[in-house]
Amino acid sequence: MSLALKVATYYALDDIRIEDKPRPKIGADEILVEMKACGVCGSDLMDWYLRSRAPLVLGHEPSGVIAEAGKSVEGFEVGDRVFVHHHVACMNCHFCLHGDYTLCTKFLQTHLEPGGFAEYFGVPPPNLQIDTLKLPANISFEEATLIEPVGCCVRAQNKCNIQKGDAVAVVGAGPSGIIHTMLAKLAGASKVIVSDTVDYRLKAAQRLGADLTANPLNEKIAERVKDVTEGRGADVVIVTAPNVKALEESVSICRRGGTLCLFAPTRPEEQASLNPHKLFFNEIRIVPSYSTSHLETRKALELISSGKIKAKELITHRFPLSQTAEAFKIAAYSKECLKVIVVNEKQ
Ligand SMILES: [Zn+2]
Ligand SMILES: [Zn+2]
Repeated sequence: MSLALKVATYYALDDIRIEDKPRPKIGADEILVEMKACGVCGSDLMDWYLRSRAPLVLGHEPSGVIAEAGKSVEGFEVGDRVFVHHHVACMNCHFCLHGDYTLCTKFLQTHLEPGGFAEYFGVPPPNLQIDTLKLPANISFEEATLIEPVGCCVRAQNKCNIQKGDAVAVVGAGPSGIIHTMLAKLAGASKVIVSDTVDYRLKAAQRLGADLTANPLNEKIAERVKDVTEGRGADVVIVTAPNVKALEESVSICRRGGTLCLFAPTRPEEQASLNPHKLFFNEIRIVPSYSTSHLETRKALELISSGKIKAKELITHRFPLSQTAEAFKIAAYSKECLKVIVVNEKQ
C-alpha cells in the first residue's frame, strides 16, 4: 500500500495543483475511503469564500469505497460503498436542540481529511457516526455525488412549505435550480417557472420538469409569472443565483403572503436594496437556507435511489482527478454545463 496519495489542492480558482500528500492515518474509530467520484459545487468556485483558507483540498460531495476501517468501527466494513458528509453537527448545543444543525459551531469545524478531491480521504468519528451513508446497489458513485446538493435543496424546501397546486418560481437554472424544480414538482407544485440567462440551462430545466422557462435578457420574468398565476405572483420563489440583483428582482415575482427563499450566498460586502414597506404590507417572508444536515442527506439518498430525483441527468461533465483544474474551469466559465464531477482514475 503506497503511503502517498494524490490530491488536487486549491490555491485559487485558476490555480489548482495536483500534489502528493501523506495518506491520512486512521484512528480506531475512523475509516479511510477511496474516492470514486466527487462533485464540483458552486461554492467551490467562489474565490471570495475560499481565498483566506487557501491552499486547501476542496470536495464536499464525495462518494467512494471504504479502504480501511479502524478496529473499533461498528456497522461499516472495508468494501462498503458510501456517501460521506463533510460537515456534521454536535447534536447537543442550543442550535442543534432547535433543529438548526447547520448553524452549530461544530458543523463548520468538521471536515474530511484532506477533502473529496483526493484519491483517499479520512473520515473523523463524528462524520462516520452521524452522516456516512451506505449506498444501495442501484445507485452509482456518480449519482451519489448529488446527495449533498439534493440535501441542501430538501432543507430549503422544507422551510418553504410548498403546498399542492402552488406556483413556484426558481431563479437560476444551474444544478441547484434544476434540483429545486424536480423537488417542487414532487411536492405537488402545479407550475414551476424557471429563469436563467443561459438558454442551454433553460432547456435542461424544461426537460427535467419546468412548466415554463424565461430568459430575463429578453423577457420580463415578473410578467410571465403573473400571467400564469392570475396576476398574483409565485407562492414560493427560490433564488439560486448568487447575485444581489437577482434577489432584488425576485421580490416582484413573489405573491403577497408568499415566501422568498435565499438559497445562494453573495459576497460579504454586498448590500441588497429591499423595500421594507412592501415587504411589510405584502407579508413576504424571506427564508435563507444554508447547507444540509444529516436529516436531509438521508432523504436525498432515498429520492435519488428511488429515481424520483434523476441525478444522472444532471451530470454533464466528468474529469479524472488529475484534471481537476479543467473541471473547475468548465464549472466556472462554461455556459453549457450542469453538474461537473471529478472521478478517481484509479477505479
Ligand atoms: Zn455543495
Ligand atoms: Zn450543535
